[in-house]
Amino acid sequence: MHQDLDAYWMPFTANRQFKKSPRLLARAEGMYFWTPEGRQVLDGVAGLWCVNAGHARPRIVEAIRQQAGELDYAPPFQMGHPKAFELAERLVELTPPELSKVFYTNSGSESVETALKMAIAYHRVRGEGQRTRLIGRERGYHGVNFGGISVGGMVANRKMFGTLLAGVDHIRHTHDLQRNAFSRGQPEHGAEFADDLERLIALHDASTIAAVIVEPVAGSTGVLIPPQGYLQRLREICDQHGILLIFDEVITGFGRLGSPFAATHFGVTPDLMTVAKGITNGCVPMGAVFVKRQIHDAFMNGPEHLIEFFHGYTYSAHPLACAAALGTLDTYQDEALLTRGRGELAQYFADAVHSLKGLPHVIDVRNIGLVGGIELASIAGAPGKRAFSIFLDCWERGVLIRTTGDTIALSPPLIIEKSHIDQIVGTLADALKRVE
Ligand code: PMP
Repeated sequence: MHQDLDAYWMPFTANRQFKKSPRLLARAEGMYFWTPEGRQVLDGVAGLWCVNAGHARPRIVEAIRQQAGELDYAPPFQMGHPKAFELAERLVELTPPELSKVFYTNSGSESVETALKMAIAYHRVRGEGQRTRLIGRERGYHGVNFGGISVGGMVANRKMFGTLLAGVDHIRHTHDLQRNAFSRGQPEHGAEFADDLERLIALHDASTIAAVIVEPVAGSTGVLIPPQGYLQRLREICDQHGILLIFDEVITGFGRLGSPFAATHFGVTPDLMTVAKGITNGCVPMGAVFVKRQIHDAFMNGPEHLIEFFHGYTYSAHPLACAAALGTLDTYQDEALLTRGRGELAQYFADAVHSLKGLPHVIDVRNIGLVGGIELASIAGAPGKRAFSIFLDCWERGVLIRTTGDTIALSPPLIIEKSHIDQIVGTLADALKRVE
């Protein structure tokens, strides 16, 4: 083992394996990373679904540099700084109009915890304190904190950690290979999966349910795209029963689908929406929760001298994060990046990923905007192993992809050009032909 790698206990990483043959990144610019030895690696996953404008963008770099010298930190409780307010105004120009209030966090996981707490507290301030149950979905990923893994639906993230939050149920996921394999965009079949929510309402009574949380497109659990009509159906059921709908847009936010948010893309507006990642182009940790005005206003109806929502973080609205986010929004705007993942480029990307159909082991290809999923047949007793071998092969050949179980995920920076798409998909195709 490399001795100097010993002390760092890495997250979501097979540490022992990694430290025998580490993969290190030393520099990044535009569509590329470079290793410490100077080897160039094309970024097929925007870092970790976050570097939407590409790496080391000048306006963002400069904004952070300037901010560090001007105001390095400001306490966020009972104090403010101008960029926090400016950013909030800029952000709500991008969201569906009803989502007009912003609460800052530092990550996707914190955004989820914040949204869940807001939902429960909202019902309580309105005198419906019995509405405490939360509903998530199988194969959902909502970060790693206790609330998030409770509503999340990934067994590996849950099974080690005890009893989790009480009063949580899950609706079924929508992945249906039998009916929807090799779909482009939204699959045709499966809107009725939303009716699972009716079943839980019948079981618990709507008056006990605070909120439902889903990812409009699930990324970390294998690129699961909502069937046509599914999100609309969830919205209708929530409306009928006074249940809040939360969209976790940590991955889909900021242009991934070719619209600013999945909510705008699919024309379904949630009551709360969580974001992170692309809000600062991944440069400085930041997340946020967007809420409808009436949810915010319900909290504002108490006595004026009281704190309305007893929640927040030392680093909420951190000046460096706010500056990075403003530089990021400028970059998105100047280069029209938030709508780049639609039209001709998205079509080219779709055709490229679907060209992998028919290669060894490929049992499904799915795509929307600039996200693609290629699902491989599992090796019995070793789920995910084949996909991980492909990840290693691509890395050796200069392309960074991601795997989640047996699905390969592609989510490149939105500045991608057709030649990069060719390189990513070509490298992947070669790896698929070589793998056992
Ligand atoms: N929600 C979703 C949908 C995510 O994809 C992620 C991260 N991939 C998170 C929450 C957690 O975000 P973070 O890692 O920033 O806590």
